[in-house]
Amino acid sequence: MLPSTEYVEAVERTLDSTFTFKCHKDISCFNKCCHHTDMLLTPYDILRMKKRLGISSTEFLQKYTHTHIDEKSSHPFAVLTMNEDEEGSCPFLTPEGCSVYEDRPANCRYYPVGKGLMIRDTTDGPAPVDFYFFIRQPTCRGYDEGREISIAEWRAAQGVDVYDQMNREWQEIQLRRDNPGKPKLDDQKQALMYMASYDLDQFRKFVFESGFLNLFELDKDEVEKMRDDDVALMKFGFKYMKYILMLEETLKLKDEFQKENKPANVN
Ligand code: SF4
Ligand code: SF4
Repeated sequence: MLPSTEYVEAVERTLDSTFTFKCHKDISCFNKCCHHTDMLLTPYDILRMKKRLGISSTEFLQKYTHTHIDEKSSHPFAVLTMNEDEEGSCPFLTPEGCSVYEDRPANCRYYPVGKGLMIRDTTDGPAPVDFYFFIRQPTCRGYDEGREISIAEWRAAQGVDVYDQMNREWQEIQLRRDNPGKPKLDDQKQALMYMASYDLDQFRKFVFESGFLNLFELDKDEVEKMRDDDVALMKFGFKYMKYILMLEETLKLKDEFQKENKPANVN
């Protein structure tokens, strides 16, 4: 969830920092956090939820999300659309709790520990570094209960690591573009970024049913893997994004298509 910044503690924490917290079905605030949230989704969130619901990424995006264009970077993001009633509840919320719990998005898993990524000077030079902070929403009673645990223990219990691992490259792409010197994306690049980030089923058609495969020198095993494997396709999508954003030459055009104006317009 994207909490209001007024509830975000301005103190940076580490994985060893401890806090007292417990969230459970009998707590007085049960489900209160699943209403009126601006929940930004990651590529891996959508991969997991569309699979769980047995629908395509295109259907998932149409049914459950809306697009937000970040003012600074001009990157398109998928945001979970809350129900349009007074309660503004999450579409996956039931009286018993979250109906997609095992596949809930990364932001639902993080709460109440937020995580940021920032370029900092390290001994190996500037590099993306994680930092953590607590979110203390007044309606959340979880801080009043439970035992003391570390941020590392909390994250392990929430199954966050696989999400972070899967989304890392995508987050680093945002970070590398989140810089005042970078030009804004045009409509075409925004659409390609959105597709490669979120709409895997559409991206698969784009890769396998357009002239895409004829244009680039690609590893045959990688291509075969991403025919059926969504994670492999998502990772290839990150490569493609770096290519179209001209962050890295992650793809190589075949010699006969080498021109001055890259990237090539595939369609
Ligand atoms: S996905 Fe589940 S945990 Fe997350 S806001 Fe919706 S109901 Fe709550
Ligand atoms: S304790 Fe906090 S996270 Fe848990 S249900 Fe209550 S408001 Fe949500």
